Amino acid sequence: MCIFCKIVAGAIPAKKIYENHHSIAFLDIQPVNFGHALIVPKEHHDVFLNTPNEVLHDIMDAVKKIAPAIIAATGADGFNLGMNNGEAAGQAVFHTHFHIIPRFAGDGFRHWPHKEYGPGEADKLAEKIKMKLAV
Ligand code: 5GP
Ligand code: ZN
Repeated sequence: MCIFCKIVAGAIPAKKIYENHHSIAFLDIQPVNFGHALIVPKEHHDVFLNTPNEVLHDIMDAVKKIAPAIIAATGADGFNLGMNNGEAAGQAVFHTHFHIIPRFAGDGFRHWPHKEYGPGEADKLAEKIKMKLAV
């Protein structure tokens, strides 16, 4: 049983804050900022792409309820809704989960560095992605 399945089952403790039919939310044990929460499906799905849409729907419903409550409770100025997909993207727990991270003006966290496309590169890549979508 994975760590989040154990939390869902109540086998290990977590600070649960919300649940609906398919999802449950609890505080991240190592928050980026206090109030950082995780929303997970109650049933085990390893990654976003393998998670049924109806389950994701409940997760998004939960996000829309929880985010304003976290903002109100922490005095945050905004929040990041994030998800790491795959080891290369930083996913450590392979049970689908979204992060809600409350953000404060001047909290000092920076976003990712940026790259610049060379001439024609963005066009080429957009076309390639569109071709893959059409398959
Ligand atoms: P990932 O890198 O997979 O997107 O994020 C996994 C998150 O789960 C991390 O932010 C980590 O702090 C959190 N986490 C890992 N184990 C536990 C746990 O046992 N309890 C809680 N509440 N959070 C956990
Ligand atoms: Zn699981």
